[in-house]
Amino acid sequence: MRALTFQGEGDVKVIDVPKPAIKHSSEALIKVTMGAVCGSDLHILHGHTPMNRGAVLGHEFVGVVEDVGSEVKRFKPDDRVVSSFFTSCGVCALCRKGWFNQCVDKSTFGHGEYFGDLGGGQAEYVVVPLADHSMELIPKGMTDEQAIFVGDILATGFFGAERAEIKPGDVVAVVGAGPVGLMATMCAQLFGPARVFVVDMVDSRLEMALDLGGIPINAKQVHPVEAIQNQTGGIGADSSIECVGLLSAIDTAIESVRGGGTISMVGVPSAVIGDFPYMKMWLKSLTFRAGWCNVQAYMRPLLDLIAAGRLSPEKIISHRMKLDQAEEAYRLFDARQATKIVLTP
Ligand SMILES: [Zn+2]
Ligand SMILES: [Zn+2]
Repeated sequence: MRALTFQGEGDVKVIDVPKPAIKHSSEALIKVTMGAVCGSDLHILHGHTPMNRGAVLGHEFVGVVEDVGSEVKRFKPDDRVVSSFFTSCGVCALCRKGWFNQCVDKSTFGHGEYFGDLGGGQAEYVVVPLADHSMELIPKGMTDEQAIFVGDILATGFFGAERAEIKPGDVVAVVGAGPVGLMATMCAQLFGPARVFVVDMVDSRLEMALDLGGIPINAKQVHPVEAIQNQTGGIGADSSIECVGLLSAIDTAIESVRGGGTISMVGVPSAVIGDFPYMKMWLKSLTFRAGWCNVQAYMRPLLDLIAAGRLSPEKIISHRMKLDQAEEAYRLFDARQATKIVLTP
């Protein structure tokens, strides 16, 4: 089969690799109908995430079930499915508490042998282990483009918005208008805020944020914290959702909120450790939440929201390309010339 593989820092290639097969009774073999390129793929491309040479990339995908192991109860051949970007067992103590991303037996698709040695979704086929706990059925009538993001970026945007504790009438600041920031902008509206400011420096992304109901703030032209304070009577936002991970962006998310406010951080931190404003957090009685998305808990409700027309995540797709063009897709996405790219085999 054709698959996009990691060949070394800065080098990915579409090549022929053996078609994967089911090896364990909990697994499902999926014929991929669409994959997407994610910011995490760029971390791998640039060598910031460890990856072994030859491993297949891609952790955002939808497809059709081709075969299932004997233990798989929720899916059968020909079912259309979307997978979380990681697997969970569903039965360990933390899965039973609903924290699937803290599962003792989790692995991540398309991240090579350092993260469980699973295949990837930027390929014609992928095997999903622990299929019953890692996938959801796509509702009838829903397109691949509508469904694909519930397995990663839409769930992450929702997770960020939910943990920002937005109340009706609130002012929210979304820091970063990349794919996750745009999803957070969209999801924040579900909680009834009066205004959602969106901070970024890329015009095309800010235009998209405007289209999704956000109020763009271009950090190249104005100081984002001052701009938010100026538009809130000097108070600041009630909550912020940090979707970049750069320490400077986290600082912006903290500086943007009023006393008693909440900062919800979902961006992948750019450093392991750094300064944290303990005194400010204490003086202003701020709540700081951080974390990567507990996807499995959100896939079903998000699919229902999309089916009901309350969310349209496919709006952020800027490029539709073939799997064989994946190398060019990475180049475009890395150069910020594309907001979100989907690939079809
Ligand atoms: Zn991702
Ligand atoms: Zn578990």
